[in-house]
Amino acid sequence: MWRIRSSIRRLPRAEAPPEVSARICLDKNESPFDLPHGLKKELFEKLSKIPLNRYPPGYPTELEGKIAGYLNLSPENVIVANGSDELIGLILKVFEGDHIVISSPTFGMYDFFAALEGIKVIDVPLGEGFELGDVERFADGARAIFICSPNNPTGNTHPKKRIIEVLETGAPVILDEAYAEFAKESNIDLVKDYDNLIILRTFSKAFGLAGARLGYAVASEETMDYLRRVLPPFSVNSLSLKAGEFMFEHLDYVGHVIRYIIEERERLYREFKDYTYPSEANFLLMKLDAHDFLLKRGIVVKKLGGRLKGHIRVTVGRKEENDELISALREFINLTAG
Ligand SMILES: *Cc1c(COP(=O)(O)O)cnc(C)c1O
Repeated sequence: MWRIRSSIRRLPRAEAPPEVSARICLDKNESPFDLPHGLKKELFEKLSKIPLNRYPPGYPTELEGKIAGYLNLSPENVIVANGSDELIGLILKVFEGDHIVISSPTFGMYDFFAALEGIKVIDVPLGEGFELGDVERFADGARAIFICSPNNPTGNTHPKKRIIEVLETGAPVILDEAYAEFAKESNIDLVKDYDNLIILRTFSKAFGLAGARLGYAVASEETMDYLRRVLPPFSVNSLSLKAGEFMFEHLDYVGHVIRYIIEERERLYREFKDYTYPSEANFLLMKLDAHDFLLKRGIVVKKLGGRLKGHIRVTVGRKEENDELISALREFINLTAG
């Protein structure tokens, strides 16, 4: 007789997302730009030479080397995986401890993987200004303390000084830097000083490869040694590895996109200053209950709940998409203010 584990039975059912026919998708924090035609052709020519009958290369992959070079670290400090989401689950398998610590409102996948492991989630909500609360109080026995900076969905970063205070507890700290490329400063330098720090990065946002499913973790060599033991072999396919390497040959293009997004983010922020929180990511948190209104105009944004009920999270899009968003939101504000 087969039985479903209770930790699995408690998970919400995987439902097909509602059919939305939006022209403008600003709900998933993706890059609004696919690779330009010329670059895509160049990449596909490289992909055509990959032997698909062979497994991907073993570690350290060429991509791990390139990431390490980019971060000024050694390949032993880097692990690539099938999206940084996959890494969250793997990291929770490495450490002892009966709970994780999160700070809501934040990214939902930390809860999800804790539920899979059957461990408790202790929430120390962010403060009024979305600053980190006293997470140190629950450091004892924590399998991991999750810090998301810039935080999804609020867009703010946490000061390095504060992150160091949490690291000083000695508990494993998972610092999710999925949006670091859009922020003023990163915390990669701390990896050299703290063995209990694992930083998560992704190709899904600034690098524009959400469809390739590619993420990476950065940590000390000792921590990585254990993480590599739980990583399934060949987790990343040859095609995605090559796509990731390709982006490092075109960092000027990536940098151009990042500057474009930051400029557009600041334009949207100035436009709706009274309703918008400052952001160091590729999205903005807005105190406007405009999800349904925008959807009728073909623009899909993320509707938030709980403490952020009545708020939306808006991904920064292309100029012309942002122009449409601006005029729709102005209309919404005029209607609701009138
Ligand atoms: C988008 C996002 C990720 C990226 O996940 P991938 O699996 O690499 O696509 C990770 N963390 C946060 C907070 C995110 O918003």
